[in-house]
Amino acid sequence: MRGLMQDWPLTVDKILDHAAEWHAGREVVTRSVEGPIVRTTYAGIHERAKRLSNAIKALGVQPGDRVATLAWNSGRHIEAWYAVMGIGAVCHTLNPRLFADQLCYIINHAEDKIIFTDTTFLPVLAENRHRMPTVKHIVVLTDEDHLKGGAVAGALSSETLIETHGGDCVWGGFDETTACGLCYTSGTTGNPKGVLYSHRSNFLHTLVTLQTDVMGLSVRDTVLAVVPMFHANAWGLTFSCPAVGAKLVMPGPKMDGESILELLETEAVTFSAAVPTVWQMLLAHLRTTTARLTTLKRVVIGGSAVPEAIIRAFHDDYGVEVVHAWGMTETSPLGTLSTPTPEVAALSFDDQMPYKLKQGRPPAGVQLRLTDDIGGGVPYDGHTFGRLQIKGSFIAGAYFKSEGGDILDADGFFDTGDVATIDAEGYMQITDRAKDVIKSGGEWISSIEIENIAAGHPKALMAAVIGVPHPKWDERPLLLVQLKTGEAATAEEFMQFLTGKIAKWWMPDDVRFVDEIPLGGTGKIDKKLIRQRFADYRLPTV
Ligand code: ADP
Repeated sequence: MRGLMQDWPLTVDKILDHAAEWHAGREVVTRSVEGPIVRTTYAGIHERAKRLSNAIKALGVQPGDRVATLAWNSGRHIEAWYAVMGIGAVCHTLNPRLFADQLCYIINHAEDKIIFTDTTFLPVLAENRHRMPTVKHIVVLTDEDHLKGGAVAGALSSETLIETHGGDCVWGGFDETTACGLCYTSGTTGNPKGVLYSHRSNFLHTLVTLQTDVMGLSVRDTVLAVVPMFHANAWGLTFSCPAVGAKLVMPGPKMDGESILELLETEAVTFSAAVPTVWQMLLAHLRTTTARLTTLKRVVIGGSAVPEAIIRAFHDDYGVEVVHAWGMTETSPLGTLSTPTPEVAALSFDDQMPYKLKQGRPPAGVQLRLTDDIGGGVPYDGHTFGRLQIKGSFIAGAYFKSEGGDILDADGFFDTGDVATIDAEGYMQITDRAKDVIKSGGEWISSIEIENIAAGHPKALMAAVIGVPHPKWDERPLLLVQLKTGEAATAEEFMQFLTGKIAKWWMPDDVRFVDEIPLGGTGKIDKKLIRQRFADYRLPTV
């Protein structure tokens, strides 16, 4: 027997409709690419996005067509998203930190028809325009004045398109399973693969992230969305903020400590989200000032493991709660969060720390499990490593154009490629990417755990650990440290610092100081590049 409730397709245009009607005057504030801080409202964004929908329809965009954005977080970027999604076209977010070859590969694979972009990226587009045969138009998120002399011939100004088209446009009216967004994973192995979100999956992900123990946003929050819109949909913030009517602050191109601090304070931000490196930069900058964080209450940090030093500095020095989160492009992205259960909340801050360092527990809507290499069960004892698998209505079921073939197992689970433990309280902890875990003497060493401890050394800015071939043990850990500016240190200082904090057989065989620990397109340590750089390196223990 079927239920008798209304058929109300879960399409994301309804989120912005809601914001425009019930939170019309709530501000969206942007540090613009042109420089000044600019302000609009949800009603303003809604009106302009509708005009832009008409404009791209006039440019030939049909339902199902892919329209790319190569842009910083801004109010205009949000307008472009909803303009595309509202008419049933697919919004494809491009990561500007990718190399030109990767960008071209992705644009061609997606067959993008239009690219919305910022003036920042005109040079790279101009240089590679001839390699993008499917792209018919480039629309720059700016006005005619700032477009003048732009490097791409025939590029259009979004402001002109908005001015010259009416706002009368019907959104939605299609099935909720219609494709809505496309985001390629960075492809640390093989070519990048496209994750194709549906309206329904984005809508459900929005509702789940709004649970109190997930992001728990409210209309009383002011949210600084530092995590880029091209990094797994800004972790859903460009949907969840309008859904609850939270004031939204967008950092544009500037994510350095000073610029972030300025926005946090002048806009009275209460909540923010970003990868650890952003917060490391903010905290480093804060230490050079006497500034306080007067309004910020909570930051969600994920994308890579959060070092203890960040959690402590936020808590001890600035009274800010850190919520550690795990997810991936394939999971929309939120999969788990380390919010405390009542049992954990009852502990002292120090005793809570082991839980805060874990990636946490899944909300309703996400099914998680660990398996061993042959698909058997793994005890949830907090020690035994297993492969992390996930299932749910906003988890990828296949990649765009079937790249990578069948990605679900017989039970319908997606293998995340992460190795993890789950403890008796249900807290999951990532021990490594399956390809980064160090296999030593038949046992596994977590590179992440050593990195996090080493990064807590007062002289360290960042630390990375890779496995290096060893004739007897198969692989042994090599610790690389980037010191804070002006610091000097010896390998022994770091070995001493690690002693007692990790098992003896986990101790690195060598410590090397490097000028730079390279970061990939989403701000994570680029281990592939480090392994290339150290391809000829031999351990002193060999
Ligand atoms: P990529 O950066 O490769 O494009 P994602 O942004 O989708 O892809 O990254 C997903 C991966 O990032 C996860 O599978 C996991 O390995 C890692 N990751 C995400 N959050 C965390 C976290 N809190 N701690 C450790 N690793 C994390």
